[in-house]
Amino acid sequence: MLERSFYLFTPGPVALPEEVRAIGAQHVPYFRNDAFSEVVFDCERMLLQLTSAPEGSRVVFLTASGTGAMEAAVQNLLRRDRSVVVVNGGTFGQRFVELCHHASIPTEVCLSEGDNLSSGKRLEPFGRDAQALLVNLHETSCGLLYDIDAIDRFCQERNLLNIVDGISAFLTDPVDMTANHIDAFILSSQKGLALPPGLSMVVLSPRAIDAIQPEQAPFYFNFEAYLKDGMRGQTPFTPAVSVILQLHARLKNLIARGLDFEYQRAARCASYFRSHVSRWPLRFYSQHMPNAMTILSPSDGRNAFEIVQYLAEKHRVFVAPNGGALKKIAFRVAHMGDQTEADLDVLIAALDAYYANA
Ligand SMILES: *Cc1c(COP(=O)(O)O)cnc(C)c1O
Repeated sequence: MLERSFYLFTPGPVALPEEVRAIGAQHVPYFRNDAFSEVVFDCERMLLQLTSAPEGSRVVFLTASGTGAMEAAVQNLLRRDRSVVVVNGGTFGQRFVELCHHASIPTEVCLSEGDNLSSGKRLEPFGRDAQALLVNLHETSCGLLYDIDAIDRFCQERNLLNIVDGISAFLTDPVDMTANHIDAFILSSQKGLALPPGLSMVVLSPRAIDAIQPEQAPFYFNFEAYLKDGMRGQTPFTPAVSVILQLHARLKNLIARGLDFEYQRAARCASYFRSHVSRWPLRFYSQHMPNAMTILSPSDGRNAFEIVQYLAEKHRVFVAPNGGALKKIAFRVAHMGDQTEADLDVLIAALDAYYANA
């Protein structure tokens, strides 16, 4: 990460690969033509491959940040007359709860409280009459990676549609739609995909496609319309054209290198950074961190938010502050995107400088 004006360790945006940045510098081409349709077809085919989506799955491409795709999934896939189990472990779980309330869908809220659900005990009381489960595979607000196998078992036992927000886990932490029986897998451009913000996708299994409720779907995010236009490689409305072109380049690269390359890069960055943490009065805030992110909490009573501000102001190093009750308690370091150990050395040196001066 040489000669950069700033250094990103935030969980979105993340450092962009060279091939992605080059496309961002180009003019935006016209898109209602066969050339662009081919790009969209390719993107769908590659995403289905990279998510190991079951036969017959489809992808909808939405011009929105990740929350738009979460809302679209809730409104298109869920009925209003049956409850949904929501795993709420922080800001993003709470967002699913609010999206359901907004859509008048009854919720059964399972508070995870830092538990990765591996024992299944917390889920046990829920979902006997429910239609679906909603979970953020990596609850990004507190660096909590849920046990996808336990979630899968629970959904199978209760016959629930398994709707997974994989936005901050995809490409850093292994997940497989077929093996994990995921019915709707929500992705967004600005996290592990390492693209600019503005594009979100929902990968739909045949079971999710069957569950679509067109009569209650919103106008702009009507999955039926996206699936229909997708048959000819188009979207109902102007898509985030450049981000789709960037996605195309990124996916080609991912397929060429293989997913293990990405998982290993993230795992290596995470363990490299974590191996340095004992030199500072900081401790790991989560017991179940993904490769995607490290979350740290001052163990000497210092204010976490002041550390975040110091790094930004003095070193142009951006880590993510926490919000609400955790503002003074924790901050987050993402390992998504085009990050290497050399980039982390910049952050490590900045933290050394902070504690040397403090
Ligand atoms: C970042 C993120 C989102 C999307 O947030 P937006 O600001 O709408 O892009 C959703 N879920 C998770 C788990 C995230 O990390």
